[in-house]
This record gives sequence, structure tokens and C-alpha cells, in this order.
Amino acid sequence: MFINLKTLFNKLRSQFSSNKMNVPDDFKDYQKSRSIKNKQYICHAPFNSLYFNVSGQAAPCWLTLDQQDSYPEKSIREIWNSQKLQSIRRGIQHFELNKHCSTCLKNINNHNFETVLSKLYDNDYPLSDYPTIIEFELSNTCNLECIMCKGELSSSIRKNREQLPPLSTPYDYEFVRQLKEFIPHLKEAKFLGGEPFLIDIYFDIWEQMIEINPEIQITITTNGNVYNERVKRVLNHLKCHLIVSIDSVVEETYEKIRLRGNFQKLMNNFNQLANHAKAHHTYLGVSSNPMRSNWKEIPLMVYFCNQNEVQLWLNTVIYPFEQSMWKMSADELQSAYLYLSSIDFESSNPIHHKNILHFKNFVENQVKVWSREARLEENRRIEFVTTHTFDEVYSAMEQLLMAYFDEDNYLTIGRKSVLKETYLKQLELYINEGQYSISHLYSMPISDILQQLLPKKIVS
Ligand code: SF4
Repeated sequence: MFINLKTLFNKLRSQFSSNKMNVPDDFKDYQKSRSIKNKQYICHAPFNSLYFNVSGQAAPCWLTLDQQDSYPEKSIREIWNSQKLQSIRRGIQHFELNKHCSTCLKNINNHNFETVLSKLYDNDYPLSDYPTIIEFELSNTCNLECIMCKGELSSSIRKNREQLPPLSTPYDYEFVRQLKEFIPHLKEAKFLGGEPFLIDIYFDIWEQMIEINPEIQITITTNGNVYNERVKRVLNHLKCHLIVSIDSVVEETYEKIRLRGNFQKLMNNFNQLANHAKAHHTYLGVSSNPMRSNWKEIPLMVYFCNQNEVQLWLNTVIYPFEQSMWKMSADELQSAYLYLSSIDFESSNPIHHKNILHFKNFVENQVKVWSREARLEENRRIEFVTTHTFDEVYSAMEQLLMAYFDEDNYLTIGRKSVLKETYLKQLELYINEGQYSISHLYSMPISDILQQLLPKKIVS
């Protein structure tokens, strides 16, 4: 049965209004930090947004994709009206974020408001029977093999690094046809990859948008290595805002991170895109991933973006663990914090001001917090070895290694099991060692433990 969402929204809205004094204390500061007029829902995503991922799943945002309905089993309309989405809407209405929205809840509770994903959906678009924002992550087609990426997001990594067959795509002509109904209602559409400018179905969708609703505000996240006539046509006929991924403005670092990327080509394309944005009054931003290999150069990214008068976004890199800063040792994180927090920037306009704010947020709310957490964890293990037997420490060591590989979402199942087996074998060498050796090992930061167990790179 078709559910009239406007009726549902109005019902939820009136329930909320009658109850609007009851914003739970935990959410009051977050509500104050929001700059929109309409704050009736703590998050607008379930009421105005749909996110499609490479395997056909769709949800209000990427954080809620787990166990949601998929295309083509369900049509786009059925997904938007599904019970599953309504359950998320009800949760938001009652400030119950712990089930589907626990990441946003965690960031709200930590007062880490700048990184709460729900803020991305803060807008004053009218609520209607249709989503006003659709985010497309329909294909992993990509020309690069970035060190922090995985095959699910890059066809080149899937083929060359993971040596797996290409992902099969659920998206077809019928998907593009079904979208026709939604395009007139869209205010925004976001395109992610892979590399969007290499994904054929995006060009089909863009052509449809040019024909039906060229006023949609389009955001495309690109690696900046593809710029050709086909791309220019889209940029010239739609309101395209671009986010270019640049992890370093030092050529050598950039090309070590963005494998198969070309720094000179990127800079050349970036300048052309910047000129286009100026001429068409569209937005151009830069997105950067602070990691072990480039964190020292993040201040340079701020200078670069300030110089070019573009906004800088700093992503949180959690996976893969071997690249992410948050799995660095407490000492390393402390040094990173001391260095980064000592840097000052001059600000002469709102763009500079925002870039500096994002940088400070990264330093104070991520690096500093990770450093504190790493210290607590390392101290906990140092304490543990003083009160436990050899067998207990050995077993804790096994669990630590297993958890490390299990929790790294960017490792394929096959690679996880190879790594687990390899490291456990190395650990067995400690069986005949005394209490001191295993305790010493267990007291180290996790990155040092891995280094210690595998002094040579034996897993390719
Ligand atoms: S609260 Fe966060 S996780 Fe939940 S729908 Fe909104 S953006 Fe997604």
C-alpha cells in the first residue's frame, strides 16, 4: 500500500511540536550548534534523503545502510516508503539514535558536533512525499589505487591488489528509468565513486537531469585526475559543485598515497576546475585524508586551500588500520598533537576561518582524543601484565591480534585469515620464552607488536 509520507511527516511534526519542550538534555547543545531554522528533527536525513551504495542497498545515509532494502529487489519508490526507513524516522523523532544512528549519537555525546554526519543533512527544504537529496555510490570504477582504499571502492584495487573479479552491478537502465519520477523533486544529488567521471551510468543520470531538472545542485567528489570533453559537457549544463580529493600538495607524498595518480595532471585539472567554478559561481572544495604518511603536511593543505580560496574538508580515516593515525602509538600521537597544535595560521576571510576551524577540530577533537585513548589502552596492558600469568598474557595477546584484524573493515575476509594465521604462528615462537618476553611484547603499542612479530614483510 502506498504510504503518504507527507501525512506521516505532518503527523510526526505535530507530535513533535506538542512535545517540543522535551528535547533531552544530551541533545540541547547539539540543537544550539545547528544553524538551520527547522530543527524539528535531530536529523533530516531519514525524511529527505536516500543513499544508494554499490551493492544496491539504500538508506537515509551511508551510516544506516546495514540491513536495509536493496535495488532491484525493491523499486526506488518501495525503498523510500519501506517499513525499515519508517523505523529510522520514528527513532529520530523520539531522539532514539542508539539503534541505527549510534555513530551520530556518539559524536553528539562527545560534543564533536563538527563531525556529526546528520549536520550534512541540515537544510530547510520542505518535507514532501519524495526525497530532496539522493546520494549515488553506484560503482567502484576507478583509475587509482590509493593506499587507504579498497576494492569495493576502486575497480583497479579489486583487480590488481585484491585480484578479485569485477563487482557485478545491480544498477541498470531500469534504475535510471525509475529515477525519472524522483528527479523533479530533487534539490541536491551527490555522486561518489570510484571516480564519478569514469562511471557511465552517472552520465546517463546527468543527461536525464539536464533534460528534466537542470536546477538540481549536484555535488561530485572526484580524484581530479579525469577532465575531458564529456566531463565539460556535464559541468556546463548542470550546477555542479566539486570536491577534489587531494591528500598532499607535496608531489612525492601525493603519488605515494594516490597510486597511479599524477600530481602534475591533478594540479593542472584543479586550476581548470577552479576557473570553471569561478566563472559559473559554483563551489569547489578540497577533501583530504590525514593519515600516517601525510599528517605532517596537513598544515600545508590548509595553506594551499587558503591561497586558492577553497574550503578544506578533513576526513576521519579509521580504515585500514595500518594507514590510520588513530592506531598510532600514544607517543607518536602525542608528538603529532604537539606539532600540529603549535601551528598558527593567518585568517583574512570566512573561508580561511573555516579551514582553520576544521584543522583545529581535527587536532583537538581527533588527534588529541586518540592520543589520550592510546595512552589509556597502553597503560591498561602494562598494568595487566603485572597481575597475570604467562598463559593469561599469551591468551590476551592472541585476542588482541585477532581483534585487530577482525575489526579492520578494509581487509578482505581472505586477507584477514592469512594475516591471523601468519601472526599467530609468529606468536607461537614465544611459547617457550619466559614471562618477561610475552609481558614485554604485550606492553607495547599495537603497531610495535606487529612490527616485532613480523620484522620482515612476509605477507604480500
Ligand atoms: S542521525 Fe546520523 S546515522 Fe542517523 S540517519 Fe541521521 S546522519 Fe544517518
